[in-house]
Amino acid sequence: MLDLVIRGGRVVTPYSVGEMDVAVQGEKIVALGWPGTLAADAQRVIDVQGKIVLPGGIEPHAHVGVPVPPAWTGQADVMTQPPEAASRAAAFGGVTTFIDFAGDLSRKALLGQSRRPMLETIERRREVFRTHSYTDYAFHYIVAGRVQPEVIGEVREAIEEGIGSFKIFTVNNPVHTAPDQPSVRIPNGHLWSLFSEVAKHGGIMAVHAEDDDIVSYMSEKLQREGRDQGHNIHLVHNNLSEDLAFRNITRLAQHTGVGIYFVHVTAKEGVKVIEEARQAGLPVYGEALHHYLQFTCDDYKKPGGTAIHTYPAIKFADDRDALIAGMLDGRLATTATDEYTTFKGPKLWGDRIATVCGGHNGIETRIPVAFIKLVVERGMSLQRFADVTSTNAAKILGLYPKKGVIQPGSDADFCILDPNLKKTISLSDLHADSDYSIWEGFQCQGYPVMTILRGKVIVANGKLVGSATDGQWVRRQVANEILAKPAA
Ligand SMILES: [Zn+2]
Repeated sequence: MLDLVIRGGRVVTPYSVGEMDVAVQGEKIVALGWPGTLAADAQRVIDVQGKIVLPGGIEPHAHVGVPVPPAWTGQADVMTQPPEAASRAAAFGGVTTFIDFAGDLSRKALLGQSRRPMLETIERRREVFRTHSYTDYAFHYIVAGRVQPEVIGEVREAIEEGIGSFKIFTVNNPVHTAPDQPSVRIPNGHLWSLFSEVAKHGGIMAVHAEDDDIVSYMSEKLQREGRDQGHNIHLVHNNLSEDLAFRNITRLAQHTGVGIYFVHVTAKEGVKVIEEARQAGLPVYGEALHHYLQFTCDDYKKPGGTAIHTYPAIKFADDRDALIAGMLDGRLATTATDEYTTFKGPKLWGDRIATVCGGHNGIETRIPVAFIKLVVERGMSLQRFADVTSTNAAKILGLYPKKGVIQPGSDADFCILDPNLKKTISLSDLHADSDYSIWEGFQCQGYPVMTILRGKVIVANGKLVGSATDGQWVRRQVANEILAKPAA
C-alpha cells in the first residue's frame, strides 16, 4: 500500500505540466500517474485540485544563526535568527532545503595563525542545526583571507564528505568590521590555487564578486565629500565594481577549469559577463535575489529604506530589468534571498555606508514574490519557475536528483502553491524571528499553502505540523555535466 498520494494537482516535472497524481512511499516519490489511477489504496490521500505541485523550494543562500558585525548594529552579540526560526519561515514559504555556510572566520584563522580542520568545522556546524531544523539543510564552505596550503590540502576530503561548493569573497568590505580585522578577501594568486584544487576534485565555487579597489576607493571618496549616507551605498558597491570583478573571476575560471556560481548578481554588467562566459562554453551560473527583482536604489531614500539592503547593493531600474530578463531567458539560473534575519532595531541602526546592515528576512517570501514577478507579470512557464526556485539550485550545487525534481526515486519534497490565492504580505502572516518585513503591503497572487518534506507534511492550512527534528543535513556532489559546460 502507498503511504501517500497527492491527487489532482497540476504537477510540474521536467517533462510536462499537467494534472497528475504523485505517489509517495516512505521518503521517496515512487510513481506519477494519470488522475485517479494511484489513489485507490493509499494510506493518505491529499487532494490538491486547482493547486500547482512544485518540487520543494531550495534556498541556495542563507546565513542562519551567525554573529552580526557590531559595526552594523551598534551592539555586541546580535545574531541572525537561529535554525528553528529560519527553517520554520522557510517551511511556510514552500522551501524544503536551504544552503547555509560553514567556515572558520576566526581572527586566528584569517591571520593564518591557527585554524580548525575543515571536517571539524563542518561537523561543528552540523551540530548547530541537528534537531533544530524543520527543513533539510546543507553548507557551502567559506574560505577567507590568504589561503594557507593546509586549506588547499583539505579541499578533496571536504568534497568527499559532501560539501560540493566553496564560497569566497573578492572584497573585504562589507565583512571588514574593525580597522584591525584581517581581510576576508582572497588575492588572485590564492584564488588561482584554490580554484585549481576545487576544479580537480569536482567542486564548484560560490563567488561574492566585487572589485576591492573600486569599493575602497568609492568608500573613501564619498566619505571625503560628505556623501556617505547609507542611501548612497550603491555608488560604492557599484556597477563598475561588478563588471571588473565578474570578468576577473571568469578569466580565472577559464584558466583553472572551475565552475562558478555567482551569488547575488546585482547589475546589468554582471548579467552580461555571465552571458558572455556561457556563450564561450564556460560553466558559469548566476543567482538573483528576489528583492533585487522589485526594488531599486531609489527605494534606499525612503524612510527606513536601507531595510531592503543586502550586499553588494541594489542598483538602478535598468539593472533590475536586466536581472528579470536574465531570469526569464536563462542567463541567470536561480533565485535566492541571502537570508540574514535580525530585528528592525539592529537592522536600521547604521545610517552611513560603513555601518549599513546587510541582509533581511527573505526565506519565506521568495517563492510567492518570484511567482507574481515572473509567472503572473512576465509569463514565465511553470517549468522554468520550478527551475529557478528549486531544480537549478539542486543541479548547480549538487543536490540533484535527490532534490529539486518531481520524479520517481527523488525525495518527496513538495511546495503546493495555490495560484488563485491573493494575499497581501503582512508581518503578522510571517514566521521569522523578526519585527519587520520589506514586503509589508506587497500584493501576491499565488502563495504556498502546503509544504511536504520527504513525504511528511510540515506546513498545512497555515499551521506548522512538522518538527524541528525533521531536518537533515544533505550531502552534495556536483554532476560532471554541470562543471563541463553551462547546463542549468
Ligand atoms: Zn550571503
